[in-house]
Amino acid sequence: MTTKGLSHKHIIIPMSSKNTSAFMKNSLLNIANINRELRSAKSDILVDYIRSDNCGITIVTNKVAQQLDLSIIDHYVKNDNSINAMQVEDSRLPKSKSYLKITGILFYLHSNSQERLSSSDVETILKQNYIFNNISLASKPRVIKISPKSDMAIVWIDIWDVQSGQNAKLLINRCFNVGNYIAMVRRANMNPGVPQCKNCWKWGHSTFSCQIQGAKCIKCNGPHKSEHHREFGWCCKANAKINPPRLETKKGKPCPHLFKCSNCRGDHQADSNVCPFWRHRFNREWHVKKYTEICQNKWKSIRSEVNGSSKQ
Ligand SMILES: [Zn+2]
Ligand SMILES: [Zn+2]
Ligand SMILES: [Zn+2]
Ligand SMILES: [Zn+2]
Repeated sequence: MTTKGLSHKHIIIPMSSKNTSAFMKNSLLNIANINRELRSAKSDILVDYIRSDNCGITIVTNKVAQQLDLSIIDHYVKNDNSINAMQVEDSRLPKSKSYLKITGILFYLHSNSQERLSSSDVETILKQNYIFNNISLASKPRVIKISPKSDMAIVWIDIWDVQSGQNAKLLINRCFNVGNYIAMVRRANMNPGVPQCKNCWKWGHSTFSCQIQGAKCIKCNGPHKSEHHREFGWCCKANAKINPPRLETKKGKPCPHLFKCSNCRGDHQADSNVCPFWRHRFNREWHVKKYTEICQNKWKSIRSEVNGSSKQ
């Protein structure tokens, strides 16, 4: 399937995470400077705000940007002193995405080893086959085993497309060789996996549709941004009343304490690959079942507290 993507009032500039944080540090100044340049070029768009994610920055404007606006913004970003221009891609408007899957590929690289096919192996395979020549991937390919006992994989790929889904149509039902085997591209539904929110770290909704006010910490589930855990997390604060007394975590040092996963309550970060929620990230039914159980448990424990206090 093909989706429309973000509104065209978004300008996407993929860049390294170092560049992203350097640019975001001065976001207000950067917005003011870009808007000044747009105005002096007699453009009628203005930047409203800038947001960042792990792929780079998105500049949100009041109107749809034209080619001239894009080149002004591009020029500004690449010439910013705090930015390494080698690690910035060209600005672009959001595109549509098409979702495809590839079947017929082995899950293990060699018949006698347990080494699994990785996303980068898939990227290499795609580069070697001409049918993918003009295709660009919108995210890393996802590889899963067809079933627990199978030795075959299903690979999900998201590609950049036009709204008519033309790029996907050129690929659907095409075959190509992977070693001795023949793989086939098929149409797929969007998001085979369960999304994890990067704001509250719960599974089942995306970061942009998160309903909570503020943010949750990936380490301790406290009401603060993960990067401020040392300053705001309870475990990193000095406590003389406990035995042995706890010292404050020094500035610049990582938190040495055990983490607490907000999903399974295990001793790991909420996005850890040892978390059962992560391991079942392609199994929507499992997630729904677990969250229901968790809700019921909470409800039960509230009930038992109420019952317990009324008996006393
Ligand atoms: Zn959320
Ligand atoms: Zn924290
Ligand atoms: Zn700590
Ligand atoms: Zn967990």
